[in-house]
Amino acid sequence: MSDVLQQALALLKDVTPLDTDCGNVCDGRCCRPSADSVGMLLLPGEENLLSGEGFTITPADGGDLLTCNGNCRREMRPFACRVFPLFPYVGEDGLVRAVYDPRSFRLCPLTRNCAHVRLKPDFVRAVRKAGTLLMSDPACAAFLRAQSREIDELSRLLPFLENERPPIARRKLR
Ligand code: SF4
Ligand code: SF4
Repeated sequence: MSDVLQQALALLKDVTPLDTDCGNVCDGRCCRPSADSVGMLLLPGEENLLSGEGFTITPADGGDLLTCNGNCRREMRPFACRVFPLFPYVGEDGLVRAVYDPRSFRLCPLTRNCAHVRLKPDFVRAVRKAGTLLMSDPACAAFLRAQSREIDELSRLLPFLENERPPIARRKLR
């Protein structure tokens, strides 16, 4: 595993979307096997870190797909779980921004209520910083770019998220 990947994972080690455990709101939906969750796509090289953790890793379109039994050692959770429900999106200008991942829409109440629930700025910033760091690794950069184009496609189906894209600039609940 590259140093860059290790550093990106470390940036996201302790940050969380909210001050409180958001799993209390939804009973940890993103960790429960469900029809809405097909698994987590791993970054290139990440599979080497996670072998021996009891995960199932299978090749899929776009990269290796990890599935779990709903439990993991927190310090070993994959990148996709660390940034959820955001994604380090690479724009056509090459800059990385943290955006709501439209693929989280069905699963995550934070995404569905993004107009009213403000995510913690340190979490949002860590997602962006981790993405910027990963852009220095050619394989990870290609992965982030490909995923960002997929997000572009899906965002066309969810224009409300397109309008709400910057999670850090959320207006407070009135
Ligand atoms: S589905 Fe969303 S709100 Fe629920 S635990 Fe996962 S990130 Fe938190
Ligand atoms: S790998 Fe861990 S954090 Fe990710 S969905 Fe499974 S139990 Fe949850």
